[in-house]
Amino acid sequence: MDAPVQEVIKQHLIDPEICIRCNTCEETCPVDAVTHDGNNYVVDAGICNHCMDCISPCPTGSIDNWRVVTRPYSLQEQFSWSELPTQEDVAVNAGGAAAIDALEDDVSRLLEEARKGLGGKPVAPHSAGKPTVNLYNRGKPATATVTGNFRLTDAASDSDIRHIILDFGNQPFPVLEGQSIGIVVPGVDAGGNAHHPRLYSVASSRDGEKRNANNLALTVKRVDGGLCSNYLCDLPRGAKIQVTGPFGATFLMPDDPAANIIMICTGTGSAPFRGFTERRRRAMPDAAGRLLLFFGARRPEELPYFGPLQKVPEKLLGKFFCYSRVPNEPRVYVQDRIRSEAGEIAKLLADSNTHVYICGLRGMESGVDEAFADACRAASLDWSALKPAMRESGRYHVETY
Ligand SMILES: Cc1cc2nc3c(=O)[nH]c(=O)nc-3n(C[C@H](O)[C@H](O)[C@H](O)COP(=O)(O)OP(=O)(O)OC[C@H]3O[C@@H](n4cnc5c(N)ncnc54)[C@H](O)[C@@H]3O)c2cc1C
Ligand code: SF4
Ligand code: SF4
Repeated sequence: MDAPVQEVIKQHLIDPEICIRCNTCEETCPVDAVTHDGNNYVVDAGICNHCMDCISPCPTGSIDNWRVVTRPYSLQEQFSWSELPTQEDVAVNAGGAAAIDALEDDVSRLLEEARKGLGGKPVAPHSAGKPTVNLYNRGKPATATVTGNFRLTDAASDSDIRHIILDFGNQPFPVLEGQSIGIVVPGVDAGGNAHHPRLYSVASSRDGEKRNANNLALTVKRVDGGLCSNYLCDLPRGAKIQVTGPFGATFLMPDDPAANIIMICTGTGSAPFRGFTERRRRAMPDAAGRLLLFFGARRPEELPYFGPLQKVPEKLLGKFFCYSRVPNEPRVYVQDRIRSEAGEIAKLLADSNTHVYICGLRGMESGVDEAFADACRAASLDWSALKPAMRESGRYHVETY
């Protein structure tokens, strides 16, 4: 007689290393399978029905993790993790192995369906370099030395945004433009748990602030009452800090001089685009592809990199600054400027070598989306079909937080 099929499940887990504890998954889950304590966000295996509603809204991808297990990890186990367990070898008989195959197929199919319904799975540009991810974690962080920390915004402005340079000495820390790193604030929170790392976009190009330096730059905004941003903004030169990552495998720059790149940002969302611009300037200064930056701020004094950006030639970077709080002037947001450049935007969107990147405050995507739809409509293009096609071919990327 055949041995009975062994019970196996594919357990849905959250990666505590890159989860930013934003609560989106808990708000989204229709059956209340997501819960949290002071340490981690976790999924209850007894409740989760693999509906996949939470996958696309998660801003970091940390919710898209799965392990085949014969005994599900309990909530208490998950609350105690600082990193995900590796997939263990699951010892099962032939019936169990077939059950695992069926589970893998089932979850892949459900994920595929969920991603299609929500505009497709994010994909890296085909020409992007191969990113290194998760080289360092909270258990084994890299140590970086602060070699620069200066204010980018006007001293009179109440917005303190800083350019911070981190040097990795002789530790390898390979990054690509568009990736993020994690910063670990020392100490523990009120509940005695280690602080979870916060993510910051790399603001320099892959070869560092100066060519071939083993360092990188961040653009950090001081947040009222914020733990990590204040820690970073107050760091003196010479301070040593713990870093995790690198993270991010899709919001990457196309490594193709013919690619047109439309970059849209507010505030510190400019960080990855500084990296993109530096990469173009150094590696492909005569690139045929257009590089366009739509950059929104309340006032010029609050726009990080305002001075240095003025010096970047128009041939390398087309710049559209949009200010929403300049006294006696109309409020202009990034979507307004996209509309006033609708002709050029529609021409670029019709080109299969154009990539769109949106980075900055959560919520900015919808206004930009409507402006793209208007620009397309005026040129008889269908944005509702073009956008998912661009996303699926690795040419439409959003990173908001
Ligand atoms: C992919 C990605 C890239 C990012 N890149 C950048 C970047 O390049 N630059 C950048 O500046 N940021 C970036 N961020 C945001 C960054 O990770 C942090 O979220 C940000 O710096 C705030 O972190 P914090 O530790 O200072 O604030 P937190 O301590 O996490 O607090 C956040 C907010 O909650 C409030 N708060 C905290 N505790 C409580 C409480 N108990 N009760 C009520 N309110 C509370 C704080 O006052 C604050 O307003 C990025 C985020 C992501 C996901
Ligand atoms: S980052 Fe993702 S997994 Fe973490 S709380 Fe937010 S939505 Fe949930
Ligand atoms: S897959 Fe569905 S049931 Fe499971 S945690 Fe996500 S939203 Fe909830």
